[in-house]
Amino acid sequence: MTFQALLLDLDDTLVDHRGAADRGVRGWITGLGLADSPADLETLVERWFVLEARHYERAQRREVSYVEHRRVRIREFLPGWDLADDALADDVFAGFLGCYRAAWRAFDDAAATLDRARAAGLPVGILTNGEQAVQTEKLRRTGLLRADVPVFASSALPAAKPDPRSYLTACAALGAEPSATLMVGDSLRHDVVGAQAAGLQARLLDRHGRYDTRRDALGIQTVRTLAAVA
Ligand SMILES: [Mg+2]
Repeated sequence: MTFQALLLDLDDTLVDHRGAADRGVRGWITGLGLADSPADLETLVERWFVLEARHYERAQRREVSYVEHRRVRIREFLPGWDLADDALADDVFAGFLGCYRAAWRAFDDAAATLDRARAAGLPVGILTNGEQAVQTEKLRRTGLLRADVPVFASSALPAAKPDPRSYLTACAALGAEPSATLMVGDSLRHDVVGAQAAGLQARLLDRHGRYDTRRDALGIQTVRTLAAVA
């Protein structure tokens, strides 16, 4: 089936979020002098991502605000610090964010894919779970922000992926029929299963070949690079 509009995920699809978060948190922990040994650093990094997974999901489900989820994360991560004051907790978290932002990198195929799709006349949007301001800044800093490619971040949508309203709001804004819109991203749940349930076409971006078994079992179509999409 062909498609007449394209929706792309942002984190780990256009921009290497995981790599940036990993490099960012290592630099931040080291700068604060929190790790006494390489093994200690690994333990702290692992704990950081466990807390991220737990609390970021809650923010996406709107059980807490994005601002509040950061405060909870930083207080749990640094239990020995007195971070009861919100402004102080925000300040400490901002230290990590600075390191994370400095580590943002676009994937090599991202800019060319956006530009090729637009040059072909395809309406293109970026549909991402996250905060509108942060995600827009991420695109700007990595050279991927385009005036004719709108950014649909969940903080400004009725709901986050995989809620059908997220995909349908983006399709409506692009003036595209869901059935003629292709969603591409790295998350099986957020970019493929959820998109298909909302009536869109979908492809899993599987840069590292990790989803083979599930792809076979579910009949999921995968691509290894964005260049294979548009
Ligand atoms: Mg993603």
